[in-house]
Amino acid sequence: MRGFDYFKPRSLEEALRLKETTPDARFIAGGTDLLIKIKDKELRPSALISLRSVKQLEGVEVNKFTRIGALTTISDIIQNPVLCESYPVLVEASKRVGSIQVRNVASIGGNLCNCSPAADTALPLLIYNAKVRLQSIQGSREMPLSEFFKGPGESCLKSEETLTDILLGPTTVNRKAIFLKIGRVKMDLAIASVALMLEMEGERCQKARVAVGSAAPVPLRLSKVEELLEGETVSKELAGEAQKVASEVVAPISDIRASEGYRRHIVGVLVRHALENMLGWSRA
Ligand SMILES: Cc1cc2nc3c(=O)[nH]c(=O)nc-3n(C[C@H](O)[C@H](O)[C@H](O)COP(=O)(O)OP(=O)(O)OC[C@H]3O[C@@H](n4cnc5c(N)ncnc54)[C@H](O)[C@@H]3O)c2cc1C
Repeated sequence: MRGFDYFKPRSLEEALRLKETTPDARFIAGGTDLLIKIKDKELRPSALISLRSVKQLEGVEVNKFTRIGALTTISDIIQNPVLCESYPVLVEASKRVGSIQVRNVASIGGNLCNCSPAADTALPLLIYNAKVRLQSIQGSREMPLSEFFKGPGESCLKSEETLTDILLGPTTVNRKAIFLKIGRVKMDLAIASVALMLEMEGERCQKARVAVGSAAPVPLRLSKVEELLEGETVSKELAGEAQKVASEVVAPISDIRASEGYRRHIVGVLVRHALENMLGWSRA
């Protein structure tokens, strides 16, 4: 590993000023993704700017929106009573991130900014229509998470910006959701994953949100599947159609975990299983 400078700012302003003066420096939160990339020589930053002492970036606050600080660890998300109550699928997906040792240091902001198509927390945040807040010394901006990812390892973050918060709108009572993930072993990145949310009025689907992981260059909303379900009575035939459409619209790759063809097939199966589970037809 090549040597690099290491800064430990105590405020967000200090962190942002350091980033502005050292554009090729990288922010580091838990380091569970970044240090591996540095070790593997995928990245060679001249400096690391640790966010660990920037308290402003930690914690969960509930006002009109629920705000999750980017530095909040995956373990803290799992243990947060508000998130367990209002955003249970985020908690379920967080439980599937790595091991307890990884979850204790890994941050939700790092999970998003690493921009892996397999990022487990991205899927529930996509179906909950989360926004992200990005900040530089010049000011802050917000955008839907669905517009944040640009490709593997690439996001809309400018070099002088940091992700500060994730913002979630209020939940509704008739909303049900589920997260399903298939990996080679229990602690592994997803071969494929799905988060599905339905708002039902009796048998009729009012609103559907579907997001998939490891199935395209970015964590992806499947708008074609959502359109197929919305306004319809969800029958077993329609669930089968949703499986078919999901398999058709994704764009997975082959890698050491699975082939492109297997991923395409299994994404569809996961979508159908998620629907069956939501509608009480089977156990996922
Ligand atoms: C053994 C192991 C198992 C894993 N299993 C899973 C898994 O099952 N599912 C999964 O999704 N992930 C998994 N991961 C990946 C990793 O743990 C997560 O992506 C984690 O959430 C990253 O968070 P971090 O705080 O460690 O990020 P870091 O490694 O500190 O940072 C990751 C990237 O984000 C940038 N960054 C971090 N915070 C900010 C910020 N606030 N603003 C701007 N840029 C920022 C960094 O510069 C870096 O490029 C695993 C990792 C390991 C080592």
